[in-house]
Amino acid sequence: MSKNRLNPSKKAASRPLVSSPVAGYRDTGLLNITGYVEESLANGPGGPRAVVWTQGCQHACRGCQNPDTWDTEKVVRLVSPEELAERILSNPNHRGVTYSGGEPFLQARGLSRVSRIIRERNGLTTVCYSGFTYEELTGPHAPDAAEDFLREIDLLIDGRYVEALKSPDPKAHIWRGSSNQRLIWLRPDFLQAERQFDGNVTEIHVLPNGTVIFTGFGGQAFEMRS
Ligand code: SF4
Repeated sequence: MSKNRLNPSKKAASRPLVSSPVAGYRDTGLLNITGYVEESLANGPGGPRAVVWTQGCQHACRGCQNPDTWDTEKVVRLVSPEELAERILSNPNHRGVTYSGGEPFLQARGLSRVSRIIRERNGLTTVCYSGFTYEELTGPHAPDAAEDFLREIDLLIDGRYVEALKSPDPKAHIWRGSSNQRLIWLRPDFLQAERQFDGNVTEIHVLPNGTVIFTGFGGQAFEMRS
């Protein structure tokens, strides 16, 4: 899907956001999250944005920089949609959320709930990366709850990462890893001014626990702290 790399220089001690049995977590309605950062300006327009990385992806793109996120059975961090929404809303600087992965549409139902809450409460916008194309997400074999999730997304960045189409010019394919990927503006009320951006950039976040995170063009990582 993306230009993203998950490679923190120091990994924080991991502890679950909720203490629930991990087996069968899908039936609990919890989200399986592999990373989270706040106040990013490098992961889509209309920032600052919270960024959420989800666990699980079945696209297996050659050259993927986050193969650790592929395993759909691996439980990293479990969080309820309501708790994640509150986390995003607790930072008054946030103007939206960006979902990356992994494949966010494998957890479409929970993420659509997060986006609905933050939009209804504070008018926050949603940007979502997906390895699925828009046509796949609206076709007969779309993932569960894809239609609901698409209704909550302002900007969809779609398509698998194709290594042979990696752009040597970041400004030519802003926010994307390869030129086949598209920016699809799904909500017309996303301000036109928000679509302006002068190029892909990389951010460095240093968390209080010492974790250093590179995110945006050329890298990304996270640690979800409770
Ligand atoms: S869709 Fe993204 S996370 Fe999944 S394999 Fe492709 S590049 Fe990697």
